[in-house]
Amino acid sequence: MASTSERDLTRRNVLRLALAGAAAAGWARPAGAAAKVATKARIVIAGAGAAGLATASRLSQRLDGAQITIIDARRAHFYQPGFTLVAAGLKPKSYAIGATRDYVAPGATLVEDRVVAFHPESNVVVTAGGQRFGYDFLIVATGLQLDYAAIEGMDTRLIGVDGIGSVYGGPDAAEATWRELARFIERGGVGLFHRPDTEMKCAGAPLKYAFIADDRLRRADRRGKAELIYAAQNKALFSVPIVSEKVRMLFEERQIRTTHDHVMTAIDPGRRIATFRTPQGRTEIGYDFVNIVPPMRAPDPVRFSPLAWQSGIFAADGWMEVDPATLRHRRFPNVFGIGDVAGVPKGKTAASVKWQVPVAVDHLVASLQGSVSEAAYNGYTSCPLITRIGRAMLVEFDYDNNLTPSFPGVIAPLEELWVSWVMKGIALKPTYLAMLRGQA
Ligand SMILES: Cc1cc2nc3c(=O)[nH]c(=O)nc-3n(C[C@H](O)[C@H](O)[C@H](O)COP(=O)(O)OP(=O)(O)OC[C@H]3O[C@@H](n4cnc5c(N)ncnc54)[C@H](O)[C@@H]3O)c2cc1C
Repeated sequence: MASTSERDLTRRNVLRLALAGAAAAGWARPAGAAAKVATKARIVIAGAGAAGLATASRLSQRLDGAQITIIDARRAHFYQPGFTLVAAGLKPKSYAIGATRDYVAPGATLVEDRVVAFHPESNVVVTAGGQRFGYDFLIVATGLQLDYAAIEGMDTRLIGVDGIGSVYGGPDAAEATWRELARFIERGGVGLFHRPDTEMKCAGAPLKYAFIADDRLRRADRRGKAELIYAAQNKALFSVPIVSEKVRMLFEERQIRTTHDHVMTAIDPGRRIATFRTPQGRTEIGYDFVNIVPPMRAPDPVRFSPLAWQSGIFAADGWMEVDPATLRHRRFPNVFGIGDVAGVPKGKTAASVKWQVPVAVDHLVASLQGSVSEAAYNGYTSCPLITRIGRAMLVEFDYDNNLTPSFPGVIAPLEELWVSWVMKGIALKPTYLAMLRGQA
């Protein structure tokens, strides 16, 4: 049997591997020190979240003399992968909050305003404050909008009241969700989990929270007092079939009951009843705690602009019509869409942003030089799927649902591992922040 010090040593090695691993593989890959390209190009970036800030940093590393303007009204920067940890009662909400200004690339100008209209035919964006910005290149990095209003009876003011939680709603909502979950653990009853039938960011997060609730109940010796239900929007639990099957097996083992083809349409907070659309008609499920995951769509200024897909599966919710490999707009070649707003089949994670940004930047810089870039994004998406506190599965995949493990033979993607938990709980935030600065 391994002694404590041997175990510690092993743990230390594994931790080192995790940190170095995050730095070396799926996340951090330092930018090359190629000579800067001289240009006077006006580049406007709409949105200063993960993708907008990282893009500004990369551009400022590669260009000399460009006028980079980044527009976002939100002064706080949210480290959204931290919301899950806040809602699990493991981190304070301050863990997920930073200041946008601290990550703005040297030389880039931050305009604290919101884009209300995109006019790609005339290369202009207009802000809520009435400013007009002309551009040579536009990067749209506005993320997505959470459409709580699409669930009848739902209002963000209900988060943290009468058993309603919503991990997605922001740092305050995540904290309030933990308070409601803690109350539920004391009282018991039905815990209801679900996801919308739209595209969504970090599609593993609703599953993670069901696992966390189960684990928290067990740790409090209250599991017998609760029934947990996961209402999936279709016949699968995850878009990658092998991962879906693994989650199904774990849910079965943890006695988290699943029900399929259920899309939440309404909530009655007074009666604590959620209504779902199913192929058989409307059905109601009573709850004592519910984690609401709202439908997600492109923000309205993008959705109702010429930048949105005009037809096909991404059109209704207004996702941006970009080429999946280059993130370049298919009709407006001086426009790129990066991050959650992009209408591509996968990639709504911060880890995807890490791989998307250098590709789009390379294409933009090549255009400035009159050349062509070969860089391509393969749909890389990564989801550290927490299965209990202290364990996670590091699920990484591409557009074709191939598993793309960063550490083949070392970290098995479908095993619940401590090292994968370390990736999520410890390594992810520093590498994310390094990405914002263009160092990862
Ligand atoms: C609960 C949860 C858990 C997650 N877990 C993980 C995880 O474990 N791993 C992972 O890799 N990813 C995870 N993610 C996903 C990740 O956070 C997002 O995919 C990532 O932040 C996307 O970056 P983005 O720049 O596209 O959008 P965001 O980071 O959301 O930034 C968008 C920015 O655009 C701004 N904006 C919006 N509209 C406008 C406008 N009209 N004009 C100007 N600015 C505008 C917003 O204010 C915001 O600052 C998680 C997300 C959530 C919510």
